[in-house]
Amino acid sequence: MTNLPNTNWCATTTLANEDRNVAVRGVEEAAQLIRECDSRLQPLGSRFSYPTYVTAQDGLAVHLRSEQHILASDCETITVTGDCTLGALWDHLRDRGRTLPICPPVITEQTVAGAIGTGTHAQGTGEGLIADTVLSIDYLDATGQLRRIERAGEAFGAFQLHLGSLGLITEVTLAVAPNRDYVAHKYTTSGDDLRQNFRTWNDRSEHVKAWWFTEEDRVHVWEVSPADSGAPIDPSATTHADLNPVLQATQERMGAELRSDDRTIAPQRTVGRFYDYADTTGDLVEIFRNGIPAPQINMEVGVPLDRFRAAADDLRRVLANSAYRLHYPVILRPTGPTNAWLAAAYDRPTCWFGFVVYQREDGSVADGSVELLGEIQAALAAHEGLPHWGKYFDPLHYDFRSLPRWADFQAVRHRLDPLGRFLHPRLAPLLDAA
Ligand SMILES: Cc1cc2nc3c(=O)[nH]c(=O)nc-3n(C[C@H](O)[C@H](O)[C@H](O)COP(=O)(O)OP(=O)(O)OC[C@H]3O[C@@H](n4cnc5c(N)ncnc54)[C@H](O)[C@@H]3O)c2cc1C
Repeated sequence: MTNLPNTNWCATTTLANEDRNVAVRGVEEAAQLIRECDSRLQPLGSRFSYPTYVTAQDGLAVHLRSEQHILASDCETITVTGDCTLGALWDHLRDRGRTLPICPPVITEQTVAGAIGTGTHAQGTGEGLIADTVLSIDYLDATGQLRRIERAGEAFGAFQLHLGSLGLITEVTLAVAPNRDYVAHKYTTSGDDLRQNFRTWNDRSEHVKAWWFTEEDRVHVWEVSPADSGAPIDPSATTHADLNPVLQATQERMGAELRSDDRTIAPQRTVGRFYDYADTTGDLVEIFRNGIPAPQINMEVGVPLDRFRAAADDLRRVLANSAYRLHYPVILRPTGPTNAWLAAAYDRPTCWFGFVVYQREDGSVADGSVELLGEIQAALAAHEGLPHWGKYFDPLHYDFRSLPRWADFQAVRHRLDPLGRFLHPRLAPLLDAA
């Protein structure tokens, strides 16, 4: 296939050699490839994951390229191909007054198989990961045999965060719910209020997202609840300018670190969009799908929600004492427990602490950024933090064996793929350390 991408989404890292990068147009072609080729296989989705564990130079990169992505859809379920994007799925449902029973992430260009692969999530203590809305998964195993696993299946929790290591996912069926309108109440408050009342905000609102501007210790909060349950939005509500000075200072710091005065570049726009904020209404996609993708090192650490305050206190100390500075607010997104065995949020409400370090035009990052991310990981890991598998992390910091189903995942992986045909060489030492 011509124009088959062989880099990550923003073309800053090569994932596969051009002659080791292939497309398969459906189940038959994919099964034939798995049977006839003896290389290691790295399925690729939209390539939004941090590149560490999705490179394929040691084997063959495989892109599923289905002709039709939505295979069946009714009021209760939707069946799509593994390479259907989340955006295509959500847009199809919204056109029919339906949705997935979960909040969308900030971008929806990811494929369904890829999003499940690393534990993609949004926010809401009443929900887990996107994978928790999945009802069944069809996949080709390491021998090229087509199999289906249903939610009741013993190993389903392994597939709900599979790391591309269990086979090639061809089809996914997900639960569907009626779409509805929400109100997003937005305000800015202090870091002290955050540390004391984060749980309260989450108890009273379905979906809470906060941006903690740690330099100024100010927090911008969105509390989002169904329109028919919360206080109605005031149509005459004015815009709020209280965050503007913090945004101005953040943009200045970011400009210095990115060595660019241009406020129209994507990293600057991610901050600039908060000027003069106002409450909004809409469905969850309209409210939350607002990411402005820009080349970045992104990192997210999931900490048990009941350790939020202690973790936030330690994080503040680390940031204050570090020789380095963040140039983007810390993004806080709590979720409820998930059934995905490898997720930080497995079986426990979790607060995801998100960090973004934008790359300069030449791909470099501000001095000390990676060191700072290391200090942060050490601090959050001390509170039982575990990383998001699709983002940057250094495994040295984490105790993966603290995951109750860690060893069970190894057993499933060994059973399905004893020769490691789908196992990334950098994941092998991690996963085999069971
Ligand atoms: C700008 C940006 C915004 C993001 N926003 C969020 C967010 O809001 N929330 C969040 O949780 N994460 C977010 N992420 C992370 C992103 O959701 C994950 O990295 C996700 O896994 C990417 O999906 P993808 O289709 O790009 O898959 P890829 O990155 O291509 O692959 C991810 C994994 O899935 C496997 N895989 C892909 N297709 C298949 C298949 N058909 N069969 C078997 N395995 C397969 C791959 O081998 C790999 O292990 C963001 C990342 C970026 C860069």
